[in-house]
Amino acid sequence: MTANATRVLVLNSGSSSVKYQLLDMAKAADGGSAAGVRLAAGLVERIGETTSRLAHTPLAAGGGTRETTGPIADHDAALKAVAGELAADGLGLDSPELAAIGHRVVHGGLKFTAPTVIDDVVLKEIERLVPVAPLHNPANITGIRTARALRPDLPQVAVFDTAFHTTMPEHAARYAIDVATADAHRIRRYGFHGTSHDYVSRRTAELLGKAPEEVNVIVLHLGNGASASAVRGGRCVDTSMGLTPLEGLVMGTRSGDVDPAVTFHLERVAGMATDEIDELLNKKSGLLGLCGDNDMREIRRRIDEGDERAALAFDIYIHRLKKYIGAYTAVLGKVDAVAFTAGVGENAAPVRAAAIDGLEELGMAVDASLNAVRSGEPRLISPAYARVAVAVVPTDEELEIARQTYALVTA
Ligand code: AMP
Repeated sequence: MTANATRVLVLNSGSSSVKYQLLDMAKAADGGSAAGVRLAAGLVERIGETTSRLAHTPLAAGGGTRETTGPIADHDAALKAVAGELAADGLGLDSPELAAIGHRVVHGGLKFTAPTVIDDVVLKEIERLVPVAPLHNPANITGIRTARALRPDLPQVAVFDTAFHTTMPEHAARYAIDVATADAHRIRRYGFHGTSHDYVSRRTAELLGKAPEEVNVIVLHLGNGASASAVRGGRCVDTSMGLTPLEGLVMGTRSGDVDPAVTFHLERVAGMATDEIDELLNKKSGLLGLCGDNDMREIRRRIDEGDERAALAFDIYIHRLKKYIGAYTAVLGKVDAVAFTAGVGENAAPVRAAAIDGLEELGMAVDASLNAVRSGEPRLISPAYARVAVAVVPTDEELEIARQTYALVTA
């Protein structure tokens, strides 16, 4: 790697999509804003279909988004198309300035507690985790294989969604089921969105003018997927997602917590197959299952028009959120801050107001005018008298993946 190799390409490979960002970490080290370090960003979607779409935004060059549609057969073709777009902006993947490629990997099990340079052994281990992450790890593996084939000489780093949660104590991570059965099948709570919980908890400490070790934070990552975490002194001690990202909060299309006996009931009484139940709970439940919409903007619009189904879905969503805030307050003992992040957490003021409403006895309150401010910056929305700071802290998983990747390859 040459001394001026300061760029990191971040890849987030899904089953039929690739999201990417190219960042310059030299500028990040200089304390540049997150926006300042981003050179290009984009997305390839509907890979494998005839209507694949590539949307590429050359941020450094200041141009608008370039869109191309047409068949992109597989991840290999997708990455080559991305490489072509980057090359057109003078940011080609063959550039000596590219230091590494950082891959988002959803499941790292217990083995991967930190970002890891990918070699054949590491790749095999990620493959070994496919049975516990059948919906996610295969796509991540495809992305890694493709990128390695394209630049075999370049360090490739896996940044795991589970890593931040590996500090959870055994009493939080274990389900109360037969230990031998659980261990034989690696059944335990792993947690996800770890890169976001890590980043947001540190940014929240920064907002309070403290070191991460000095503060206890409840992070509420509310996107289409949603999870809560309890972070004590910078280390995760509990999180709401479990063996898979299905457990915990009500999400866009996932149910979150249900009595596990619902599954047996659906099998025995409704005659549903396991895959159908999987699809029901992961893709047809949550806000979508409750009211037919999974976008919080649309749900709020319907509520404003007096739609009762949308109002009930919102109330169920908020009730679950409140339960987790209460639970994590008890787990942490003392809470310094509650941080809202991701699409809903950053943008939906009514969700933040409703989730904190009535929690004055826990020291939590939201100031209506601060809550109404729209901004891309981390900010406090609690009144000065509140014992617990309530904050909106935009997440940036790509920047965090790039930061961890760059730190590892330049160590
Ligand atoms: P994410 O998964 O973090 O990208 O979040 C996506 C979700 O954020 C969408 O499904 C919307 O429900 C929600 N969202 C985005 N923008 C807004 C907004 N302005 N108001 C309310 N919800 C929003």
